[in-house]
Amino acid sequence: MKGILKGLGVTFSTAARRPVTVKYPETKHLLPVRQRSFPVLTWDFDHDEPFCTGCNVCVRNCPVDCMTATMQDNPAYTAGTSNRRKIVEKFWIDYARCMRCNICVEVCPFEAIVMDNNWSGHEHSVYDRRDLHIDIDGLLHGSKSGELTVPFRPLDSIELLEKQAKGEEPPELSFKGARPEARQAMFDRIAQGLPAALQEREPEKPKAGAVTASAAGGAGGGEVEILSESKIRAKRMRAEREAKAFVDRGEPVPAEITANIQKYTNMKPGEAATAVAGAPGGGGGGAVLTGLNDDGSMRFPPGVGDGPKGDPNSAEKVRARRMRAERSFNTLTAAGEPIPDDVAKTLYDLGSDLAPGGAIWATLGGGSAGGGGAAAVSTAPLTGLNADGSMRFPPGIGDGAKGDPNSAEKVRARRMRAERSFNTLTAAGEPIPDDVAKTLYDLGSDLAPGGSIWATLGGGASTAAPAAAGVAVAPGADGQMVFPPGIGDGPKGDPNSYEKVRARRMRAEKKAREAIAAGQPVPADIAATIVELGGTIPDKAD
Ligand code: SF4
Ligand code: SF4
Repeated sequence: MKGILKGLGVTFSTAARRPVTVKYPETKHLLPVRQRSFPVLTWDFDHDEPFCTGCNVCVRNCPVDCMTATMQDNPAYTAGTSNRRKIVEKFWIDYARCMRCNICVEVCPFEAIVMDNNWSGHEHSVYDRRDLHIDIDGLLHGSKSGELTVPFRPLDSIELLEKQAKGEEPPELSFKGARPEARQAMFDRIAQGLPAALQEREPEKPKAGAVTASAAGGAGGGEVEILSESKIRAKRMRAEREAKAFVDRGEPVPAEITANIQKYTNMKPGEAATAVAGAPGGGGGGAVLTGLNDDGSMRFPPGVGDGPKGDPNSAEKVRARRMRAERSFNTLTAAGEPIPDDVAKTLYDLGSDLAPGGAIWATLGGGSAGGGGAAAVSTAPLTGLNADGSMRFPPGIGDGAKGDPNSAEKVRARRMRAERSFNTLTAAGEPIPDDVAKTLYDLGSDLAPGGSIWATLGGGASTAAPAAAGVAVAPGADGQMVFPPGIGDGPKGDPNSYEKVRARRMRAEKKAREAIAAGQPVPADIAATIVELGGTIPDKAD
């Protein structure tokens, strides 16, 4: 009996106790600053660039070989605004393979990579494991957006422990890699005697910040808005809905709406943003929308990529789909294969600039990019490319039904193969065979050696440049070389024919570039040949 009562006592006391569990995902436990989900890159807010230099130390040390990074010269170093000579260009991590060992973080000499210590770092469920190939946009997103409130950088801790062991003053806390306001919040916490090693609940959703005097002052003129993430999203979605309504009606999207989409897409939570000058007026800057934002991240059309996390329309999933389509496009293009309709449609729908028939931005961007096709034709000389970068074919070419040898896909593939041959032969200083030249001409390529078909069809400016009439030294408007009078006007096969003269000039220019690349002066005979054939002696290797 006593035992029963004792057992019931335990049962009732436990029933009366507050639960230790929480209703995830509405409520989330605090995460310690050292917890690790997946590696992400950090953003240097002081220099407005990634900390990562693309040095590949982490890539070489990753035990499962799931990282890829490339390096480039840092333009900010040349401009004198950064002390990093090199900067990361591209970066991928395959989260499907990453085993979260933290080695990349430990070995990075620049503390440029940290383990994501947010809940959002754990929430990566996808239907297709290829969606877990995270590119540099995705890797920097957490840091740039402020989701990564307090990145844990091990070297900072090592320095702290070393100093403590030596009995020295601890180093000044830096919270590098966190957004400036998050850094300040941590300093404030410490000033109040609170521990800095715990994150606030739901750190990935910063609360709406009040307009601070410094932020307002920094904006310098114009209307200043500081909004929370949810408000920014709501405003962007409203603008995108309005834009979509115009698109659905087949009407151009007003510049004001386009400017708002751009503004709220680029705006960061808690960060001051000045209203786009001149946007409400409609004429304004007239910037042409493309598939990329100013910071290099992907731009999606209205209504695309605004679903909640995990939704097929979430930014992560849409980004992954677009990357897959772009990969397919590049692979097929490199192989000279036609682009399947579903890939083309995905590229178009998700806002890729690679969409074969022209990107969606030509429609959404209003003014300059797209719609005014007729006006453009009447003033500008025709070339082998449309204003949106897609291929233009001569009348009657590429208008066959799908599968037909004259379908747009097959004609495009033929022209791309011919252009590839042209570029390869040209780089080798070889003459272009007749059949390749004919294909280039017939299919409207600007590379057609004897002058493109557009010189004939386009009327106006570009018709004026057949090789024999050349007087200038630069390539003609249609891409063909222009020689001094009397040079390159011999009949086909003659040493003075256009093809042979061009090949001679290209060989000379190639040798000149090779000499420059080797740090040598351009030999006098080579320089004389280039000048004689109307070329310009190159001043750099490529
Ligand atoms: S955490 Fe480990 S497995 Fe994952 S990317 Fe870094 S080194 Fe590779
Ligand atoms: S994350 Fe660090 S180690 Fe890896 S490439 Fe960038 S700078 Fe080098």
